[in-house]
Amino acid sequence: MKKELAKLQIQKALSNDKLPDSEQWIYLLNNPFDDITNVLIDKYLEVYKLGKEFRNERQTLLINNISSYLSISNKNIVVYALYTRISEKFEPIIALIDTLKLFSPKHIQYLIKSDKINEVICCLGISKSFYTQDDLSDMDEVINLLDNLPNKGKIETVKGLLSKAKEKYICPNGHSNDLEDIFCSNYECQKNIKGLTQTQLNSIDLYKEKVAKLSKLLTKNLYK
Ligand SMILES: [Zn+2]
Repeated sequence: MKKELAKLQIQKALSNDKLPDSEQWIYLLNNPFDDITNVLIDKYLEVYKLGKEFRNERQTLLINNISSYLSISNKNIVVYALYTRISEKFEPIIALIDTLKLFSPKHIQYLIKSDKINEVICCLGISKSFYTQDDLSDMDEVINLLDNLPNKGKIETVKGLLSKAKEKYICPNGHSNDLEDIFCSNYECQKNIKGLTQTQLNSIDLYKEKVAKLSKLLTKNLYK
């Protein structure tokens, strides 16, 4: 009964934009409940934007406690809440997913299909506390999707007034390059025809290595 009351008080306060105090956090860290997961994450994103020196006590408590709280909350709800917020507020969300080791190849597939490639690349390096055979096939599917990204740039024949027609590589941002350029020569851009930079390709390679190692490990354990 007392517990229910504490829960209701926290919920009511949150709906009035009032964050939990230290006593309420002690309660929450022992009794997480799913109804407030989304609200807490949204509040966290708001507070995160404020500089450290501008946060009041309750806001600082939220920043300090959120990852512990999410780590004991319902994992499916947390994973869904974080991955669906990835592009809204990119950096703090990735930081949370990373701290909580919530690598989710299923959600990453969805991000690829939603054309959120920068977000995808940031997620590839995240780990998971343990991997199953299902994870492995989902991770393989991520590779498959990455290997078959559609072209965003194009090869185009450009004819100058006095010069002969020449083939050009037009990058996804519309910069015109020599045909031999795999990556756009614009320093700020550097994208290949798929919209990826060399650094991003390197991250994908690292991910592929990780999947290959994991596959060996899992098969070994399977036939032991
Ligand atoms: Zn470019």
